[in-house]
Amino acid sequence: MAQEGGCFCDKIRISYTGEPGTHVLCHCLDCRKISGSSYGNNIVVPENNFKLLQGKPKTISKTADGGNEITSHFCGDCGTTLMRTGPSFPGSVIIKVGVMDDPDWPNKNTPKGELYVGSRVKLHDAIPGAAQMRGMPS
Ligand SMILES: [Zn+2]
Ligand SMILES: [Zn+2]
Repeated sequence: MAQEGGCFCDKIRISYTGEPGTHVLCHCLDCRKISGSSYGNNIVVPENNFKLLQGKPKTISKTADGGNEITSHFCGDCGTTLMRTGPSFPGSVIIKVGVMDDPDWPNKNTPKGELYVGSRVKLHDAIPGAAQMRGMPS
């Protein structure tokens, strides 16, 4: 069954099928900026399981903290970043969990790891059982 999501204004619609490859919180400073929050909540989905259902996201590319270029795909009308792609995640699409339609998605899926934990804000405790990494997984 496909899980669907969309941006704030719903002009861009996406979906994925199957189980995500992984699910991580990211505490890097880019994820703070992109999300407008204090961390990113990301699922990594094989690109063959990902579909852009509607709309045409704009893109912006930047060199990430890890040194590889990463591209954000966002809605040009409402500004929501829906996903990211880049050579650090070959053949995969990183979906921002907050865009999923199911409001319970984050309750049903616990992140398996946390990245850039050195930048974690004090407000957030480590998730019990989740791998704690200082950078990207190697
Ligand atoms: Zn939008
Ligand atoms: Zn990040």
